[in-house]
Amino acid sequence: MRLLSNLSIKARIVVTTTVVLGLIFVSFSLIVYQKSKSAYYGRLDARLQGYAERIRGEVEEQYYEKRFPDAKDFDELGADGLAGSLVRLSDKQGKQIFGDSVLAVPAFRTWDATKPGQFTFANMERANVRYRSLWARVEVEDRDQYAVQVVVPLTEVESALQLLQLLFLLGVPIALALSAVAIYAIVTTAFRPLSAMIRAAENVSGSNLSERVPSPQSRDEVFALASTLNTMMDRIEQAFKAQKQFIADASHEIRTPLAIIRSELEYAQKRIGEVAARESLEAALHETDRMRKLSDDLLMLARLDSDTRATKFQRVRVDELLADCVKKMKTIADAKEVALSLTVDAAAEIDGDEDKLRSAILNLVDNAIKYSNVRGNVDIVSGHAGKGVEITVRDQGEGIEPEERDHIFKRFHRAASSRSRHDGSGLGLAIVQLIVGLHNGELTVESQPGKGSTFRIFLPNGKGS
Ligand code: ADP
Repeated sequence: MRLLSNLSIKARIVVTTTVVLGLIFVSFSLIVYQKSKSAYYGRLDARLQGYAERIRGEVEEQYYEKRFPDAKDFDELGADGLAGSLVRLSDKQGKQIFGDSVLAVPAFRTWDATKPGQFTFANMERANVRYRSLWARVEVEDRDQYAVQVVVPLTEVESALQLLQLLFLLGVPIALALSAVAIYAIVTTAFRPLSAMIRAAENVSGSNLSERVPSPQSRDEVFALASTLNTMMDRIEQAFKAQKQFIADASHEIRTPLAIIRSELEYAQKRIGEVAARESLEAALHETDRMRKLSDDLLMLARLDSDTRATKFQRVRVDELLADCVKKMKTIADAKEVALSLTVDAAAEIDGDEDKLRSAILNLVDNAIKYSNVRGNVDIVSGHAGKGVEITVRDQGEGIEPEERDHIFKRFHRAASSRSRHDGSGLGLAIVQLIVGLHNGELTVESQPGKGSTFRIFLPNGKGS
């Protein structure tokens, strides 16, 4: 077994199947040989027995006709299908009455070999010739008085059996060798696509993720493996590209405020004590805040991307969570004179990560205030919906252009109008979407430019992924 496990899988298949086939071939040959042997002997024994019966009949007949022994009549009995057969009739003392005296030698014992009422068969050899021999007693006047012996050379039967033996001795190894070659050919053909896949997979590297393994024509397990590997490679390539894009975007976002901070500080340095210097330092502080928000968002995204297991699910009271969010956002809303209103349908509970859900809602409310007009209204509503809870954040602000709607959830995407007028990193909605996804929920948006936007989060009651 250890020897087998050291072999390649191809060699193992060939060796195992050849051994099993060998066992089947040898057992089959042995069975066929044994069956043929007993059929040959059975036929020969039946003929010998028939011949002996005819002799016994003739003895009886001659005896009652009082002409025993009449050699001529014995000669006429004929030995059908028993070429080269010899016959001998003797009395109890072994004295020959009729037949071939060759059988008188001790090797062909006569009376001793017989048993009352039975035919006795045996193989014997004399002068390098092997014989099949039959002995039987002959009963006359209710007494066993004579013995008849019939022998026939085994030459014909043995040469037929030898031919069969030769056939098997040559045929089995040839058949085995042919099957081993055929199995090897089949296994090699079956493994060819796998070898091609291995070669292709070896070519994949960090800088060459576009390589794909070839798919075989047949729709079998190898095809399924190739498809699975290729789908996996697609995902890895996409993730890799997204990661690269993310790093490029993040570096870009960080460079801009850094450049502003630097130039404002330089300006302030030259004008220390002047009002302009104070303004520059304020601008630098503002940019520092933006960078802090940006780095917080980046950290949050990185954690959400890589560490889904760190999510702590527990029962969360949605109404309490929303009330807490409204409290936290009050100062920002007041600064813009935006009225925040909260309507909760009933005390709803879901399974979720409270901190992450809070972060998602704060992001939506923050956006709603940011993109609202001064003295606008932001309504936060929650209620039971289907097998979960729906949270709606509605504003009456600038709204979102239809062509922007598909892009606002992408990382670093900011609508052209927002870029010039509002601070932001373009990461908020991407974070909200990841958090909602983590809870197996759904995030949708409806918006009318100039009239406002409504963001809806559906969270199922059951545990998230
Ligand atoms: P940020 O607000 O930092 O720019 P977000 O990912 O939160 O980034 O939002 C992406 C973009 O979606 C915003 O730049 C803005 O154009 C648009 N947006 C988000 N929320 C609203 C809203 N309530 N009203 C109008 N536009 C919005």
